[in-house]
Amino acid sequence: MSGTLIMPKQTGQKDAFYASLQLYYESYKRGEEWYSNADFKTRIQELLPYLSRGAQDGPYLVKQSELTRYFGLVYYDYSTATGRAKITDTGIRFYNAYLQNDTKTQIDIIMNSIFNNSFGRNNTAIKSSDSDVDAPKLFLKSMYDLNAISRKGLAYLLYVTHDLQIEYNDAISELNKTNDFDREIPIEVANKYGDVKFTVLLNSLGIVDEIDRMYKISEYVSSNYSDKIKKLFIYNRKPDVILTLNEDETENETDIDGDVIQDKVITAFTYDISSLKFYNQNNRTPEPFKRGNTIRYKTNARIAKTALHLADYKCEINPEHTTFISKLGKPYMEAHHLIPMAYQKDFSINIDRIENIVSICPICHSAIHLGDMGTRLELLKKLFDQREEKLKRSGLNISFGELFSKYYQ
Ligand SMILES: [Zn+2]
Ligand SMILES: [Zn+2]
Repeated sequence: MSGTLIMPKQTGQKDAFYASLQLYYESYKRGEEWYSNADFKTRIQELLPYLSRGAQDGPYLVKQSELTRYFGLVYYDYSTATGRAKITDTGIRFYNAYLQNDTKTQIDIIMNSIFNNSFGRNNTAIKSSDSDVDAPKLFLKSMYDLNAISRKGLAYLLYVTHDLQIEYNDAISELNKTNDFDREIPIEVANKYGDVKFTVLLNSLGIVDEIDRMYKISEYVSSNYSDKIKKLFIYNRKPDVILTLNEDETENETDIDGDVIQDKVITAFTYDISSLKFYNQNNRTPEPFKRGNTIRYKTNARIAKTALHLADYKCEINPEHTTFISKLGKPYMEAHHLIPMAYQKDFSINIDRIENIVSICPICHSAIHLGDMGTRLELLKKLFDQREEKLKRSGLNISFGELFSKYYQ
């Protein structure tokens, strides 16, 4: 299970980027190596009056320097109680180039920063980030490999490479097959991955162009850096470690009864059910997390997808039920947890497992959740009878009466 992927939340607007750099640069010019957060907060509001409109809190103001830190232009010292930062040598070179209106040098510095820095972890802008995926590298490489990428396409790639731990190359070839970047991802991560601020900055610096809502590598960058981007490795780990890390798949979070959101996860990736990777995920220890005041359990979209795949994308109520062909080229079916995820707490073994997940058409799925008592009884009894033995063998001992009265009344 890998950690969290965090990206700077600062506005991607150029003015905030340059204003924060200016403050650290001026401090350095005055001979004051470190610039305190307190001074930064006061001065950044003077430089950017729009920041003081409304009640902006201190942390929000300090975040305005996140992108300069993200790209290594400013170094943040976490060891002091009040917080302070200083401009780096790279930052000084960058700001001098800016003062001289030298955009090429600015681009060169940021490009080198992308090639040489770690972003998913050990980055001074986002201390708590703990991911193998280096988002700016992934952004550049995906534009190179796909020619252009949309916001949603980038969000999808971040989701599958970080949350589902799909190898980047597999994800790209899958996207290339359908050429459709308009993928839905779970709502828990849709905002975070769908609104990545550094892309806005890279756009305004002239590293990428945005045309018709698609990002492309700019001409200058393309003619000077294509060879390097082609060979760019998007992870902050060594290629030979991939296999070991992959044994441990990430789960994604879902909402409500655990399958409603999951059904909307359009992922093409299934497990090889004879693999150790699959076995470990299917039999993992249930992992609770808190959403508001309720305890929820993480589900794995890839497990659900595997269950649909095993059912050959047919409705397990009636294989004659037809839907439509989804973006991924398979009949659209939904995954339903017979024992709903909300009741994981009643079981010691993981219920987000293929034995407990049925493939059903959207009409049958709605009927199971919204139908009258008779309808629900009939459909669930049918599914249960087909699954009873598998459930037992996986250690889930439950009778139909128990299932229905406890979880579907
Ligand atoms: Zn359901
Ligand atoms: Zn059906």
